[in-house]
Amino acid sequence: MRAGFPEFRLGSVLATSFTATLTERRGDAVERIPTPQRLVDWLAVNGLAVESCTTAQLELARELRESIHAAATAAALQEALPAAAVQIINDRSIQGRAAAVLTPEGDRRWQLSSASRVEDALSVIAADAISIIAGERDGRLALCASPTCQAAFFDTSQSRTRKWCDMNTCGNRQKKARFNANRRKKPASGQ
Ligand SMILES: [Zn+2]
Repeated sequence: MRAGFPEFRLGSVLATSFTATLTERRGDAVERIPTPQRLVDWLAVNGLAVESCTTAQLELARELRESIHAAATAAALQEALPAAAVQIINDRSIQGRAAAVLTPEGDRRWQLSSASRVEDALSVIAADAISIIAGERDGRLALCASPTCQAAFFDTSQSRTRKWCDMNTCGNRQKKARFNANRRKKPASGQ
């Protein structure tokens, strides 16, 4: 990790890990990909390594990120999807050239058309977002219960009752607050 930059929040779902590069959207927002190099770092951690990134490509990435956030939030609330966001997700999906390849070990890897093509990496993220917003995958889109967060996340728990985007941050903070409030009552239920 590079010193001086906020750490990444990585989950098991690519699209919502990507939207989590901006956290606390309803509070003091934290930008976790503040520079093109940090987007390069994030993509590498997520199996989408590129050699470099321009400021324009970072802008493209952030535009996609906020579009996924808007569309996933609408989907979680069962509202109509915002047309502008859908357009950007589709544009990014269409304009990338990435191929799924199978390794000898039986894992799926992404192969980009060129190591300088951030657009290829964004197309993989856009396609991942499409699959969860379209309801193709086993899980449920939900919004984080933390009032300063409200991030859209993909709940794959068996009971589909996950409340927080991330147990180690939002979940812990809320649990502590509730624990303090309920100290003399019965223990807090839920997660
Ligand atoms: Zn959260």
